[in-house]
Amino acid sequence: RPPKTARPNTPAPEDLTTWDRDHHLHPWAAVDHWRETEYERIEQAEGIHVWNAEGRRLIDGPGGMWCVQIGYGNREIAEAIAEQAVRMPYASPWSGTNAPAAELAHRIAEMAPGDLNTVHFTTGGSTAVDTALRTAQFLNNQLGRPEKKIILAREKGYHGSTYLAASVTGKERFRTRFDRDARVHFLPDVNPYRRPEGMSVEDWCDAKVADLENAIAEIGPERIGAFIAEPILCSGGVIVPPEGYHRRTLEICRRHDILYISDEVVTGFGRLGHWFASEEVFGIKPDIITCAKGLTSGYQPLGACILSDEIMDRLAAAGDSSVFYNGYTYSGHPVACAAALKNIEIMERDRILEHVREVSPHFHARLAELADHPIVGDVRGMGLLGCVEARLGAGTLEEDSRFGEELDAVCEEMGLILRPIFNMAVFSPPLIISKAQIDEMFDILARGLDRVAA
Ligand code: PMP
Repeated sequence: RPPKTARPNTPAPEDLTTWDRDHHLHPWAAVDHWRETEYERIEQAEGIHVWNAEGRRLIDGPGGMWCVQIGYGNREIAEAIAEQAVRMPYASPWSGTNAPAAELAHRIAEMAPGDLNTVHFTTGGSTAVDTALRTAQFLNNQLGRPEKKIILAREKGYHGSTYLAASVTGKERFRTRFDRDARVHFLPDVNPYRRPEGMSVEDWCDAKVADLENAIAEIGPERIGAFIAEPILCSGGVIVPPEGYHRRTLEICRRHDILYISDEVVTGFGRLGHWFASEEVFGIKPDIITCAKGLTSGYQPLGACILSDEIMDRLAAAGDSSVFYNGYTYSGHPVACAAALKNIEIMERDRILEHVREVSPHFHARLAELADHPIVGDVRGMGLLGCVEARLGAGTLEEDSRFGEELDAVCEEMGLILRPIFNMAVFSPPLIISKAQIDEMFDILARGLDRVAA
């Protein structure tokens, strides 16, 4: 266990439990029993491990929330954060700039594909998505075509919790009870595992591309402003669309002047062994990329919306003096940007992208072994992203299955945290994970599946 740094006047653990239960509304809390839920308190972390309040060491399968790329307990990032906080903790992005923000914008522009050279900093993934969607609206207003506003999104996509980001989120439960922008059209599930029996993956790809073409024909391209897509639908269950899908859908969007927004909040910053997956993994150059999470390895909250030169030129050419009225008090926050710069420096120096590419085949070989388990329906993933989906009996609804929670519970007893999503368990460990640690993770998973089956 790493040495504990003393926190003076630390309240008693029982008080923390009570205060958290009585006053802290967590994301996705169940309204009918939120005062009864006791959340596990993580006290310390190092590398790929976290320690819970009882002092038990656990492998952090989800890497925080798909974000702790370089692992926990990194003193270099902590020191960069402290240094910047002492030098200058805040700078208004309206009245001036700051060195870390300027340098980070330049670094991101260098890493991003093609002409994606303009960076608007946000507070996280949702606000990056919101910015991307508002930019599409703004552009079409500027171009004098205010009717081109419908956004195409996909079933099972997850894009965040601000109003617009939640509106384009295609997870069914998100659509109930909360209001949402109605100008969104969802394309059906792209998951190859869900294709009709006997259909080839190539035919499935054709069908999914046709879904987009049909939606455009039905709605009319003059009414569609943007298409938003995660390269891999992560919260939807690590759904990898069929080969060729991204390239073909991007071409269709280009043909109809529909902005293509690639949401790389999870897939960016090394998760698939590259800074961005769009170009290097899937061979596309989107109009806008959103990123967050791995940008700082979770050490500070930060997101970015990266815009193409073409968008910026078209906005400029509109020729009036309209203002880009989007931005946050914490846009380009110097401490968050300093954390991101140090994170990128460490990832480059320690060759983290190369490491991901090197260990991924082993990760997927071990993942593939789980496919033969009698209670497993599908395993899938890419890079350091994985998902195990339960085989469900006829008539059982995916969303009513507790398989993910059950697998997580038994694996936690054996030292591994997973992220349960109904009938699935997903994992995206810190990118520094070694081959031996990958083996340890999959050994626990295999035993966990046996226990759930029993
Ligand atoms: N987009 C994607 C693809 C995500 O996975 C998430 C978060 N899981 C978001 C956007 C929202 O990011 P945030 O929670 O930082 O607002």
